[in-house]
Amino acid sequence: MEGIRPVLDVRGLAKAYGDAEVFAGVDLQVAAGEVVALLGESGVGKSTLLNCLAGLDRPARGQVRVDGVHVGALAEPAQAAWRRAAVGFVFQAFHVLPHLTVGDNVALPLLLLGRRDPARVAQMLRTVGLAGFEPRLPRTLSGGQLQRVAIARALVHAPRLVLADEPTGNLDPATATRIVELLAAQVRAAGAAALMVTHSAQAAAHADRVLRLTAAGIVEA
Ligand code: ADP
Ligand code: MG
Repeated sequence: MEGIRPVLDVRGLAKAYGDAEVFAGVDLQVAAGEVVALLGESGVGKSTLLNCLAGLDRPARGQVRVDGVHVGALAEPAQAAWRRAAVGFVFQAFHVLPHLTVGDNVALPLLLLGRRDPARVAQMLRTVGLAGFEPRLPRTLSGGQLQRVAIARALVHAPRLVLADEPTGNLDPATATRIVELLAAQVRAAGAAALMVTHSAQAAAHADRVLRLTAAGIVEA
């Protein structure tokens, strides 16, 4: 990574709620095509950190840069526009919209960017093993299939930064392993930078690096 600018560059990040400091001194770099797993005890601030990286929460101190863009320095609505284009999120609870078809769910990020592209949606569904699933409603899919829809949706607009918050927490171990393999392969193929919060050693085994969030910052796991 020497000499090459990382996609994600976090320096001295700290977050507090009132007087309660959640974490401080977080330094983190993730390169293009790199998948980093993030471990840490419940309540240590992993979800809060992801939200700070996406500009959805304000850190008390420190800087987040994505491809050189200082996220905290962007005013709304420029920050919202940046987020829609640059970030893809995968959540534990999938957050697939129940009243939209699979195709419309995956198309949503493109629609919000004014880039309608049914061929790209079809390609993404093929990539996650759900070719032809466009007209299906989410309630007709299994948990593993729903998470694949969520992965297709998180990557359809070619985001530079992929953030996954316990993406396999609701899946059985065999499905979880396949989902993490898929997510990692797609992130590497797209040359994005990914930070994946996980409790699972199996999931972490598919990452390029494994880090741990502590109250005092990030350490090698
Ligand atoms: P993790 O994802 O590692 O389990 P979280 O990021 O969800 O941890 O939470 C970190 C800490 O911040 C917890 O102590 C939680 O109670 C607290 N916290 C999270 N969100 C808020 C909020 N909006 N207001 C106050 N405290 C919060
Ligand atoms: Mg969390």
